[in-house]
Amino acid sequence: MTSTRITHWIAGRPWSGGAERRGDVYDPATGKVTGQVDFADSAVVDQAVGAALAAFRDWRSTSVAKRAGVLFAFRELLNARREELAAIIVSEHGKVHSDALGEVARGQEVVEYACGIPHLLKGGFTEQASTGVDVYSVRQPLGPVAVISPFNFPAMVPMWFFPLAVAAGNTVVVKPSEKDPSAANFLAALWREAGLPDGVFNVVHGDKAAVDRLLEHPDIKAVSFVGSTPVARHVYETGTRHGKRVQALGGAKNHMLVLPDADLDLAADAAVNAGFGAAGERCMAVSVLVAVDPVGDELVTRIKRRMASLTVGPGSAPASEMGPLVTGAHRDKVTSYLDAGVAEGAELAVDGRGHPVTGDTGADGFWLGPTLFDRVRPGMSVYDDEIFGPVLSVVRVPSYDDGLALINANPYGNGTAVFTRDGGAARRFRHEVEVGMVGVNVPIPVPVAYYSFGGWKSSLFGDTHAYGEDGVKFFTRAKTVTQRWPEPSPGPGGQGPRGGIDLGFPTNG
Ligand code: NAD
Repeated sequence: MTSTRITHWIAGRPWSGGAERRGDVYDPATGKVTGQVDFADSAVVDQAVGAALAAFRDWRSTSVAKRAGVLFAFRELLNARREELAAIIVSEHGKVHSDALGEVARGQEVVEYACGIPHLLKGGFTEQASTGVDVYSVRQPLGPVAVISPFNFPAMVPMWFFPLAVAAGNTVVVKPSEKDPSAANFLAALWREAGLPDGVFNVVHGDKAAVDRLLEHPDIKAVSFVGSTPVARHVYETGTRHGKRVQALGGAKNHMLVLPDADLDLAADAAVNAGFGAAGERCMAVSVLVAVDPVGDELVTRIKRRMASLTVGPGSAPASEMGPLVTGAHRDKVTSYLDAGVAEGAELAVDGRGHPVTGDTGADGFWLGPTLFDRVRPGMSVYDDEIFGPVLSVVRVPSYDDGLALINANPYGNGTAVFTRDGGAARRFRHEVEVGMVGVNVPIPVPVAYYSFGGWKSSLFGDTHAYGEDGVKFFTRAKTVTQRWPEPSPGPGGQGPRGGIDLGFPTNG
């Protein structure tokens, strides 16, 4: 197989320089290297930011009607070419094709929301706030902004941010994960085809060196980051120290609480779908199932039955329901938790190492089948750590209150869900749980594009969530104008009334 070179996208075209450092990109289903991605050094990042800054002056002054027109064109292209983009995601991430299409669809939702930018940027106007004085507000773009994204959603997560950033008149530098970099370049080419001026959307590839330069660069005005909690904390602290607006979304450990009155088939389906979809490599994956006595045994039985029939195989095969993990190193790290969990006293109810892999893959793919631990407790590494793989832990608790206390004691607060038929219990859970996104009989409660996405506690550093109204707010700053006009002139040479001299603080009257 030939290895493709993947390089930066700056000022509307692929970068033509040579890179000192590169990283391997794999097909996770075969374990083979399929590409090499250039890693940006400071000089390359500076070029991309320079292109974004140069484009900003014209783009911010382009009418909202024209900006919305480009967004509509981008949406049409994205929709028409979603199969191609999904195939790119599958080839570098490993998730199954239908799941990759779902990722593209959820990103497209945000593009569609951003198409409404003329409406979203409407300010307020108060006539006669004081006698002869009107007050109004406008929202203006910030300048060049950076979007730094993780491997698990190479298209959707950047699309949580850049459609609104671009629509609001900013220019963008995206730094995708070095593990699956090609989706960002595909999106960059779509923007060009949609008529976006060169330099408004740029991509730099690389690792910490590129990220740190973006965080320090004086012309980057805001940073949207998604990734693991330690890196999110670093990005938030470094970016804010350099005077930038930062939103940094971190890791997760999402609990699903099942009450004794729940529909157990609905709950078992949800646990399997949300635990093992995308091989557990989702920040909204369910990784802990909290079973309130006495449902534990019955729930574990139903989940095991469903797990046994899951088809694990290459993401490109239509029959596959779960693909491989993203890299060999990540697969090995996830697998190490299986031995750790057993050593710490958890019951390995289903060992994913024994699950068959279906399809023509070769032995070197990064496989691990779905795994279930029962009787897990806090303090065990399988409970405490974000594993980010197909490993679901069952914790048994005697009561609703114990389940709620467990969830609220967890340092993460991204997503959670309650399964019950009791509306009062669900309402109480929604009210009391300290988590940013809550599902009621819905296991992966990712908000639709006109709400906002964001966790609490160690799952988010910053004050604003992604997309929705928060996204518009994050990518703009408000300006409030207080305005008086003299009375209309009575005629040529005429004079209107004057305010006169008054050194007191202005009051309204
Ligand atoms: P990661 O933190 O390793 O990488 C994220 C980005 O940061 C990448 O672009 C990477 O190149 C860069 N990076 C990595 N190490 C860095 C460092 N030391 N300094 C500066 N930059 C660095 O995350 P990942 O493994 O790509 O993605 C998985 C993680 O992302 C999980 O923890 C998952 O929960 C989280 N995630 C969170 C959300 C959310 O919405 N909260 C969504 C998706 C993924």
